[in-house]
Amino acid sequence: MNTTPIKARGVERVVAGQATSDGAGVKLTRVLTHDLQHRLDPFLMLDAFGTDSPEDYIAGFPDHPHRGFETVTYMIAGRMRHRDSAGHEGLLSNGGVQWMTAGRGVIHSEMPEQEAGRMEGFQLWLNLAAADKMQPAWYRDIPAAEIPELRLPGATVRVIAGESHGIRGAMQRERTEPLYLDVHLEPGARFEQPLPETHNAFIYVYRGALETGAHRIGASRMAVLANTPDSNGVVLQALQAPSRALLIAGAPLREPIAQYGPFVMNTREQLMQAVHDYQNGRLAA
Ligand code: MN
Repeated sequence: MNTTPIKARGVERVVAGQATSDGAGVKLTRVLTHDLQHRLDPFLMLDAFGTDSPEDYIAGFPDHPHRGFETVTYMIAGRMRHRDSAGHEGLLSNGGVQWMTAGRGVIHSEMPEQEAGRMEGFQLWLNLAAADKMQPAWYRDIPAAEIPELRLPGATVRVIAGESHGIRGAMQRERTEPLYLDVHLEPGARFEQPLPETHNAFIYVYRGALETGAHRIGASRMAVLANTPDSNGVVLQALQAPSRALLIAGAPLREPIAQYGPFVMNTREQLMQAVHDYQNGRLAA
C-alpha cells in the first residue's frame, strides 16, 4: 500500500468549453479548445457529446482524414460504428473505448448506429512526438469488460490508460505516458491519484460536483490543474451527490504544434504535405 501523503495540486483555471458542431452536424461541447493546446500538451482537444435528441447526433462523422496524432473515443451511452480506409470496422458501445493512432494517415467514418435514445461520450486527441507522427496507422477497440476497474471505499475508477493504485490500464504509451481515468465517487467520497509534477493534467466533471485544490467544480466544467511546485498528485472529493469525472494527465512533448483541421504536425510545410497527400489519395496509402 502506498502511504506517501499527497501534496495536492491547485486549480489554475476552470473552463466551460464551447458549444459547437462537427462532422456532418453533430452538436457537442469542445472542452479542451485550441488555445489550451500548449498549456495541456500533449493533449490537443477534448470534445464532450451528450444528448437524448437524435437530430443532435444522427448525421455522424462521415469519411474524413487524420494525420499526426491519436484519437481516444470513450462511449458512456449509445453505439457508434467506425470504418476506415484500410477496411477495418468496429462497433463502439456503452463503456467501450476506441484508441486510434492516425500516424501517417487514416480516412475513416464514425457514425451512430441508433436512431433513437441517448448518445453520450468523449473524444480526446493525444499528440504524437515528431518522430512518431508518420508511423503506420493503428487502432484497438476496447470493450467495456476489458477496461480494468479499481475499487476503493466510495470510489470506482475505470483505468483506461496509465496506472492507478497498482491497477494497470487498458492502454500504455511510452512517450506521452497518458493517464486516463473515469472516476465515479459516492457522495462525500475521496480519491487520491499520484501525478508527476511536470505532467500536464485536467479534470472534466460530467456528473454531480466535486472539490479539488480548494475549488468546487460543477458538472460540465473542466479544471486545469496547476503544475504546483513540489506537488505529487491530485485529490478529488465528491460533494453531496454521486459524481463522475475524467482525470487526464500526460508528459508534455514540448515540440511545435501546427494544426490544420484534422492534421496535426510540427510545421506548416508538413501540413501542406498532408493536404497534398490527401488530395492525391496518398494520405492513407
Ligand atoms: Mn475522426
